[in-house]
Amino acid sequence: MSIQTKYIQIATPAAVQDQELLEAAQIIRDGGLVAFPTETVYGLGANALDEKAAKKIYEAKGRPSDNPLIAHISCYEELEPLVTKIPQAGGKLARRYWPGPLTMVFPKSPAVPYGTTGGLDTVAVRMPSDPVASRLIALAGVPVAAPSANLSGRPSPTTARHVWQDMNGRINMILDGGPVGIGLESTIVDVSGPVPVLLRPGAITLEMLRDTVGKVDVDPAIQGPPAEGLRPKAPGMKYRHYAPRGELTLVEGESRAVVSAIRRLVEEGLAEGRKVAVICTEETRDQYSGGILRCVGTRTRQETIAHNLFAVLRELDDLGAEIIYSESFSQDHLGRAVMNRLMKAAGYRVIQV
Ligand code: AMP
Ligand code: MG
Repeated sequence: MSIQTKYIQIATPAAVQDQELLEAAQIIRDGGLVAFPTETVYGLGANALDEKAAKKIYEAKGRPSDNPLIAHISCYEELEPLVTKIPQAGGKLARRYWPGPLTMVFPKSPAVPYGTTGGLDTVAVRMPSDPVASRLIALAGVPVAAPSANLSGRPSPTTARHVWQDMNGRINMILDGGPVGIGLESTIVDVSGPVPVLLRPGAITLEMLRDTVGKVDVDPAIQGPPAEGLRPKAPGMKYRHYAPRGELTLVEGESRAVVSAIRRLVEEGLAEGRKVAVICTEETRDQYSGGILRCVGTRTRQETIAHNLFAVLRELDDLGAEIIYSESFSQDHLGRAVMNRLMKAAGYRVIQV
């Protein structure tokens, strides 16, 4: 089922011209699939109100269809038709952080088909700030359901080249707006109940959410593997995610102990003739030798690590890394989101030293 995938380079993403987006908007209105940049990761867009279009997203990604999609809007007025009510916390957070990397879960209105929400009575909505994403949604004239534009289970795409690797021949169009800014998927917070619940950490941090609305609970599935038989609040949480093909293990502990443990593990792997890789930071890169070494960023600026993480995981796939050891990160602010993705990518394999 191969289709021709058209590749469009946006000349100046920050000042995108409507002309560059008209065909993409038409494809979405006609029920087709367009991948586009957002400030978080590349999204795979379709008309969120068209169940058949949503179904195509699941097919293109190879994604289980009980995993709901986020509906993307271009202005606040587009929220109202999608939801039955806008709880106070939702309104406050929208005013403070929209447009931006924050998704909120609301009770859904009948306009949103169950094919988009994975059968749930709630709908997740986000208003992206990226100019290409925002203008495309406005021109499409419909809310745009857009999960990350990767094959299910693979690391999310942060460049159009990543999207091409996964989606060429499966979707109608890719809009190349250059590398994304943040590099991790949006924060998700459920505002449909009495107390907001963080379902997925992202660039709008728990600290920022609490600063705006006070009490915010954290879904237990963020911290560790979902308990057997428990139905997670964000259905996406139950699936293996973001994973490289190699076997990733996190090493946690005091910095010098982590480095020496990883050095020893690399030597063991190499002695067994395995292709071994290390994910390190600017602070430690000089302390390793042997194996494939990739620096993910600097600990003094968490946003560099968020920005590079998925690209590094994909690069290690391309290089055929069989065993990967990664340093760990502090779990405050953006670090919570980084560690959430790394833990999932590692299937929660952690060595404490
Ligand atoms: P992705 O589209 O790849 O960024 O993943 C979307 C995430 O949003 C998944 O983890 C979904 O489970 C979550 N999500 C979407 N809609 C809802 C909803 N109505 N309630 C809870 N989680 C949702
Ligand atoms: Mg995804």
